[in-house]
Amino acid sequence: MLSSKETVLAVLTSPVEMRTADIAKEVGLSNESTRKIRTGKSYVNLFPEIERLTTEQMVRTCEKCSFFQRKSKRTTWCDLGYPEAVSRRFARGCGAYTLRTQP
Ligand code: SF4
Repeated sequence: MLSSKETVLAVLTSPVEMRTADIAKEVGLSNESTRKIRTGKSYVNLFPEIERLTTEQMVRTCEKCSFFQRKSKRTTWCDLGYPEAVSRRFARGCGAYTLRTQP
């Protein structure tokens, strides 16, 4: 069993594209507690050097990005060539994310 400090570190070092629910399951916390740690709403004094996700980052998906293209349900791609764009949440940590301005 992880200590609370180890649990917070495990949450904060999880890949940004990972679902909060999956992290919560892995570390044994509730989804809400995990989300609060990820977004810096709790345990802000632990590991301050690790950047927290902003609320805006949490709702990003590649589908909302202007570089995301879709030909069909199965054929999608990123105009910048990032293969990870197939994972919708990759946008959370993508420095090239640009919110699509038209539907
Ligand atoms: S630029 Fe980044 S956020 Fe935008 S579609 Fe490509 S991988 Fe996703």
